[in-house]
Amino acid sequence: MTSLRYLGAAGVFAAVTATGVVVAPSASAAVEWDGCGVTPSHSNGTNVVTYRDDTGDGSMADAIRSAVSNWNSSGAEVQVKATSGTPNVTFVSRDLGDAYGSTKCASNGRTTISLDPTLWDNDLNKQHPEHHVHTAAHEFGHALGLGHDGGCDALMQTGGAKCDPWTTGPNSEEESLVSKILSGTNNSAGRNLEIALSE
Ligand SMILES: [Zn+2]
Repeated sequence: MTSLRYLGAAGVFAAVTATGVVVAPSASAAVEWDGCGVTPSHSNGTNVVTYRDDTGDGSMADAIRSAVSNWNSSGAEVQVKATSGTPNVTFVSRDLGDAYGSTKCASNGRTTISLDPTLWDNDLNKQHPEHHVHTAAHEFGHALGLGHDGGCDALMQTGGAKCDPWTTGPNSEEESLVSKILSGTNNSAGRNLEIALSE
């Protein structure tokens, strides 16, 4: 059993084995997300994260709206709001090869979530329409600072392509972790947190 540990300013999640050995992410592996995460603003004690949908795709827009709604109604204590201005997170449609989505951040701290238009209507998505929302919500989980862990009951699952159904929002463990990450007192100064998802 491994857990994910947030390693601080570098923003890297690494697997921690039962014996406590930190396994460094492989430099050569394809990286679906780069682990930097957003810095929220705060309004009346609430963590606010803004997004803009630049996909220009109606089906993707529906999935993004549902994913945002599921995060907002979760216990993660985050308020995700659409903006036409400069957002924390921008969704775009971009060919990614063999990945459904990816999450990357630029040096200016802005995060881009890409959704793959080629895989959008493939067989898996036809059989599991909820996978669209799963993908958008999962990538947003990365933008909020989550790594990968868990089985088919987890939004950030590592179980591969055999879940039925696919989760479309965070479970209680993921909610709790996001709440801690976004509310960290050192958050705006480099997210200097070390939080174990599970021991
Ligand atoms: Zn992922």
